Amino acid sequence: MTTESPAPVKTSTHDIPSYLDPNNIGAYEIFLEQVDRVTPYLGNLAYWVETLKRPKRILVVDVPIHLDDGSVAHFEGYRVQHNTSRGPAKGGIRYHQDVNLSEVMALSAWMTIKNAAVNVPYGGGKGGIRIDPRKYSQGELERVTRRFTTEIGLIIGPEKDIPAPDVNTNPQIMAWMMDTYSMNVGRTATGVVTGKPIALGGSLGRSDATGRGVFVTGAEAMKKLGINMEGARIAVQGFGNVGNAAARIFHDHGAKIVAIQDVTGTVYSAAGIDPYKAMEHLSATGKITDLPGTDELSREEFWTVDCDVLIPAALEKQITEANADQIKAKLIVEGANGPTIPAADDILASRGVTVVPDVLANAGGVTVSYFEWVQDFSSFFWTEDEINQRLDRIMTDAFLSLWDVKERHGVTLRTAAYIVACTRVLEARALRGLYP
Ligand code: GLU
Repeated sequence: MTTESPAPVKTSTHDIPSYLDPNNIGAYEIFLEQVDRVTPYLGNLAYWVETLKRPKRILVVDVPIHLDDGSVAHFEGYRVQHNTSRGPAKGGIRYHQDVNLSEVMALSAWMTIKNAAVNVPYGGGKGGIRIDPRKYSQGELERVTRRFTTEIGLIIGPEKDIPAPDVNTNPQIMAWMMDTYSMNVGRTATGVVTGKPIALGGSLGRSDATGRGVFVTGAEAMKKLGINMEGARIAVQGFGNVGNAAARIFHDHGAKIVAIQDVTGTVYSAAGIDPYKAMEHLSATGKITDLPGTDELSREEFWTVDCDVLIPAALEKQITEANADQIKAKLIVEGANGPTIPAADDILASRGVTVVPDVLANAGGVTVSYFEWVQDFSSFFWTEDEINQRLDRIMTDAFLSLWDVKERHGVTLRTAAYIVACTRVLEARALRGLYP
């Protein structure tokens, strides 16, 4: 089959795979709706669109470990390879008590779109374990990580599927994954995961890369909208790897962080919060609340804060019909994956709020993961300046070309990103054809 195939196009099959509950599809439903929205713009390539709605491969694993008290605990783990048309699967591993198959499917699908949107040569994958890591010791987390890596070792590898950090995972966990995989294959394979410590083939610039990409695309969007960086009021939801780095970099460029929300609560200061002090306070006390010089707000009040730019950098489904019409920001830059549901996208678009979508805004992380993987393969490491310059160029170019597509088609930036990304993925799919 070629891109010229004249077959009829199904636009909204929502033909749900039997392993999802049709009455409660979960996060994957958001992705299915996003695909439906882009389908009319795909021309003949829409012939292949069902490919996007079905993950290529799903592995669900049991992860048993000995706990420190001598008992045995079992955790559910997943690795989903959504698509490999453009290259190996790529995407993070999430540790969270609420992780489920639908969520990992959605996250893996967003990786496919993200990797294609910024044109790194990967498909999309994601993994997760249903575990609340705060409740386990380092030793227990190491055992969970090692057993999980062995279980998914059937399908990962430097040329097949390359995990990385995501929510609640970090360079230490990547080091254990790299070591476990390497022990199992009998050679040190640094390229099997990215986001590793620098001492193990990690890349300079990787830890701040997602936040840096949020800043770069956010700053470009601010220019388009005429929002001055100096003194711009920023509200950040989530103060983990992404929210924290984004807040620091915006602050360093003269913007003012007026609100921060994390799992422990919400703090606000019209005069501005110093994110470095917020970080020190968080590591000293374990919470963002009671930060000197700030007032505490309720969780819902966060969404109504007077600000110019809102950065959701936590979990999915945060911006919904319930709060989209109360948001005061003119610009939303999605550091998280899937923070805005499609119905909220419509409300924001009708109110003239610009959204830099996740698949563009947070692509800085996987872009520097790509640099890390290339450096590992060539065993030749770049300077931090080289990395940041290359990252900034990729993110700026991607933003500007998606902005053009948005203007040309009169669509949102999210639909523009999907038009470009889905076209790249489905072109590859059509050229490769179906095997056998
Ligand atoms: N977990 C990050 C994301 O959602 C990074 C993935 C990667 O570096 O492979 O984009």
